[in-house]
Amino acid sequence: MDQDAQSPINNSLSNRQLSPEPKRTSRRKVLKYGAAALAGLSCGSAAVCYVARRARSATAAAVFKNGAPKGELWELWRRRGWVKEAQHYLKLGRNVQCKLCPNECLLEPEDRGRCRNRVYKDGTLWTMAYGNPCAFHIDPIEKKPLFHFIPGTGVFSIATAGCGFRCLNCQNWDISQRKPEETKDPRGEPIQLLPRQFYSLDRNDAARMSMFPDDVLAVAEFFGCPSVAYTYSEPTAWYEYMIDTAKAARAKGIKNVWVTCGYIQEEPLVELCRYIDGANVDLKSFDENVYRRLNSGKLEPILSTLKTLRREGVHLEVTNLIVPTYTDRPEMIRRMCDWLVENLGPDCPLHFSRFHPAHKLTHLPPTPVEVLVEARSIAQRAGLHYVYVGNCREVDDAETTFCPGCKKPVIERNVYSVETINLEGGKCRSCGTEIAGVWS
Ligand code: SF4
Repeated sequence: MDQDAQSPINNSLSNRQLSPEPKRTSRRKVLKYGAAALAGLSCGSAAVCYVARRARSATAAAVFKNGAPKGELWELWRRRGWVKEAQHYLKLGRNVQCKLCPNECLLEPEDRGRCRNRVYKDGTLWTMAYGNPCAFHIDPIEKKPLFHFIPGTGVFSIATAGCGFRCLNCQNWDISQRKPEETKDPRGEPIQLLPRQFYSLDRNDAARMSMFPDDVLAVAEFFGCPSVAYTYSEPTAWYEYMIDTAKAARAKGIKNVWVTCGYIQEEPLVELCRYIDGANVDLKSFDENVYRRLNSGKLEPILSTLKTLRREGVHLEVTNLIVPTYTDRPEMIRRMCDWLVENLGPDCPLHFSRFHPAHKLTHLPPTPVEVLVEARSIAQRAGLHYVYVGNCREVDDAETTFCPGCKKPVIERNVYSVETINLEGGKCRSCGTEIAGVWS
């Protein structure tokens, strides 16, 4: 999640919702459903064992039973081109299992996945989040945050509704915890996006407007952005839109940035890595129990994503939001930093981020400054070369990049603007030490 992520164009149509919230599946029903799915299979015993294992692992994901759109709404959505067959799913008899993220939702006909974006209708799993961003804006790349990736440039940032997590502290819950049809409105005349009118769009125009991959790139090019970011909500939940845009961007020499919680399966991740240039992964804690309570997710798949990104050569930075009483234990922060050094190396930038009360944690205070300062010290002692503190102006040098060789500042920042750069060809101007990153 971006630091302080809010977009001027950020549509949530909660007051004119087009369909009621469906009921979610109880655990008992999912178990029963998993058994039914297996009964519908006609394959060899090895395959059945594989599916049985997967079905068991999927019982944690509550899907929206009978939650797919119907009738006119579905037709309007299709007519706009906002529907596309999903990638990465398995057919299990009359049902399907999504294999995009570790939730592994099991869907009967007319069900909707946990991320709210994928619906199973007419024998096909569809994404409803295609070409219909509900949030878009040109941000400084530093806001993602990416501090070692073409600094001082603008990044065209887009998001649709949806996320497979349920973070209690989500800053962008009004889009991440919405269905696409709660953020977009396909009724009325379609709106054609003209880049020069980008800043004069009002909310109603934005709600009706499509933005397909070529439209995204037209805006990025018009405003001279060298990169496009998939951000704000969870881009894995709108994977098809992201990867099609990323492919088209790559063909035009525009870079791609993925800002993510990292909850994705290995196969779609490896495919995505072919087109992504930079990623910021929100490592929310270093404790399975905290992940379950705070985010309704799991830690282990995120660690696997981090290792895959490193192996596939994607520029990687990590963010850790310090939430009082959840993720502020020094011992946990130390274990996390040790793991980062050992598995990603000391050159992986780490951004500690200050929590501000939001969503379901409005009763907690902002992270105390001294906790952030202590976390930075722990990370530096663990051996990380580039440690930052975000969303907090009270910490000295919170956003300065220091050369690990001569210890002099090589990039100084003020909030999201870059003030000085003492780099020459990616090396410190003072001592010639190479600074990890993508600099042009
Ligand atoms: S991407 Fe969505 S539908 Fe697929 S497994 Fe994850 S939460 Fe479920």
